[in-house]
Amino acid sequence: MNVRDEIRDIYANRATKKYGLSDVNQLQHALQSATLAEQQGEAPALIVAALVHDIGHMVHHLGEDPASAGIDDRHEELGAEWLDAHFGPEVAEPVRLHVPAKRYLCAVDREYFSLLSEDSVRSLALQGGPMSSDEVAAFEKHPYAEAAVRLRRFDEAAKDPSAITPQVDHFMRYVDLVLAPGSADRPA
Ligand code: FE
Repeated sequence: MNVRDEIRDIYANRATKKYGLSDVNQLQHALQSATLAEQQGEAPALIVAALVHDIGHMVHHLGEDPASAGIDDRHEELGAEWLDAHFGPEVAEPVRLHVPAKRYLCAVDREYFSLLSEDSVRSLALQGGPMSSDEVAAFEKHPYAEAAVRLRRFDEAAKDPSAITPQVDHFMRYVDLVLAPGSADRPA
């Protein structure tokens, strides 16, 4: 299966799990994240990253809400590893960094913490809490830090049970644009 079909398959069959404690499921959360990125005029790679940023939750078998059982599923690493096989770092790295970006924003933006949902606050503790000043400085040096912070803000805003979005197929145009030249995933 090529990556377009895999993404379609995951969102058609494995994305009905609730997104944490929110009233949206993984599919709605992904579509809302990607829609926000598109509306903000982000580059295709960040729109794709927004669409698939939580794909790590859908490729593991830890149940609906591992954070409530005190388990950090490391979904950002699982997702980035999966994406590395198909895309360049402009997609995989913001996904890998979207959890550190939360720890970063909690350290540098006082208002941000108040935006976090109950389950995001709970998982923050499992993820290491707000960054120290040394961690902040190291994070800011990462070439994809800014993209990860923008992705994180879309992520935080993508929990609206009444939002209306395009469907997964709408975003496949961006997937095609960012697939590596010569990739076996690229349509002929
Ligand atoms: Fe998310």
